[in-house]
Amino acid sequence: MTAPGVVTIVGGGLSGTEAALSLSRAGVRVVLLEMRPETPTGAHRTGNLGELVCSNSLKSLDPETAHGLLKEELRTMGSLVLEEAMKARIPGGGALVVDRESFSRSLTARVEADPNITLRRERVDRIPPERPLILATGPLTHPDLTGDLLERIGSDRLSFYDAISPVVDTQSLDLSKLFRGDRYGTPGVGDYLNVPLDPENYRQLVEDLLHGERVPPHEGVEDRPEVLRAFEACQPVESLAESGPDTLAFGPMRPVGLVDPRTGRIPHAVVQLRAENREETAFNLVGFQTKLRYSEQDRIFRKLPGFSEVLFLRYGSLHRNTFLDAPRVLGPDLALRKIAGVYPTGQMVGVEGYTESVALGRLTALFLSPRPPEILPPATTAVGALLRALIPSAYRPEGDPPGPGETGPFSPVNLHFGLFPPLPSRVRGGKGERRKAIVARARRDFAAWWQKSMENVVLEDPGTFHLRSGRD
Ligand SMILES: Cc1cc2nc3c(=O)[nH]c(=O)nc-3n(C[C@H](O)[C@H](O)[C@H](O)COP(=O)(O)OP(=O)(O)OC[C@H]3O[C@@H](n4cnc5c(N)ncnc54)[C@H](O)[C@@H]3O)c2cc1C
Repeated sequence: MTAPGVVTIVGGGLSGTEAALSLSRAGVRVVLLEMRPETPTGAHRTGNLGELVCSNSLKSLDPETAHGLLKEELRTMGSLVLEEAMKARIPGGGALVVDRESFSRSLTARVEADPNITLRRERVDRIPPERPLILATGPLTHPDLTGDLLERIGSDRLSFYDAISPVVDTQSLDLSKLFRGDRYGTPGVGDYLNVPLDPENYRQLVEDLLHGERVPPHEGVEDRPEVLRAFEACQPVESLAESGPDTLAFGPMRPVGLVDPRTGRIPHAVVQLRAENREETAFNLVGFQTKLRYSEQDRIFRKLPGFSEVLFLRYGSLHRNTFLDAPRVLGPDLALRKIAGVYPTGQMVGVEGYTESVALGRLTALFLSPRPPEILPPATTAVGALLRALIPSAYRPEGDPPGPGETGPFSPVNLHFGLFPPLPSRVRGGKGERRKAIVARARRDFAAWWQKSMENVVLEDPGTFHLRSGRD
């Protein structure tokens, strides 16, 4: 058992390391448990903390992009992992590209030298009794711990695969070519947008899916196709196309019960689009999880009716990932509803990507710090947009019915402009001006929230903060 007042963190990846350093700086003692190098994950190569398993890019720094905005907020919040990333920066245009070795070595050294942090190299096989407990074991959480979590929260609340369908910006679609409708619903009414395909459109799509270039599997991480097949919902759309020319038309693209009100007829096949959020600023292509390269997805799906100007907010993917059904398992304080005092964070909570995981680690530490903010960051900010996607009920105005984020299936989120609430009024000047307005609103709302959250704290410069007590 650890002493009272100590926070235990399992997992010294990007989110666990951020949480440990942040808590330490707020004066909290931390025990950090990391299983590497003794127990490997299949993707990590070293025993270093915060190791980047694949690309060495943390994406854009341009504050006019969603990722740049997230970094700006993280800097203001004093993210120490981001600080180390900036020190390890190597040339990479507008992106934050780092020397991966020096980045994770410096992070490890910083944690090892921190008097408030005890780093123990051990594997955790069951949820330990210590509270508060942060679970930051990431997409490749050790199977024994996953097994224990499954028993404690229910097998339908944790996934092993991430089957992501492409997400598109609603305003970039030519809606005159699509029609609303649910299978067997009233024509022209319903939750789905349907892309009608005639036999030639359908044949072309199947042909493209069969021949499109695919992403090679990650050695040691991806499961064999026969294992993947056991997870029906995880079948990539191109694998379904491989199993026969009509499989898609009888599967996710079946048009049955979908009458196009403009023709009065049922099309040969449909691509169904499901709303990503209540405001319908973004839609996903239902059942189109794919291992096609991003450039191929762009080329192929752009041929669909109404898609010639499409803007992809995220591309489809399919890979091994351990993540929770966040909207149903998390409370508004980011703790598990079923196990008091346990705070999952990072990728396992349902975000994807290096910077998003760091952001969750920072937020979890903030809410566990001696002076947590009284309110969640507004949904109009980058960190708030992420949180709203994970815990939509906490952001829903009282009296409003649950939106698609609460009622529909959950897939992990990475940050894009489609997660931000729409602007209150129309902005002239197209996509660029719209984004500038979203960024301006985010900056204003973030500054107000942070200022309020830090009332007990003297802000000296945006990168560091000092408590009024003088404690660092
Ligand atoms: C193969 C692969 C490629 C990826 N490529 C990219 C990419 O290019 N760009 C990108 O942005 N994101 C990528 N990701 C996602 C990225 O890994 C995560 O976004 C990020 O690392 C998640 O941070 P985290 O802290 O949640 O988990 P991690 O950084 O994975 O950290 C989790 C830590 O927990 C430890 N751990 C696990 N189980 C236990 C246990 N039972 N006991 C003790 N310790 C444990 C692990 O050893 C690890 O150090 C990739 C993921 C995978 C699996």
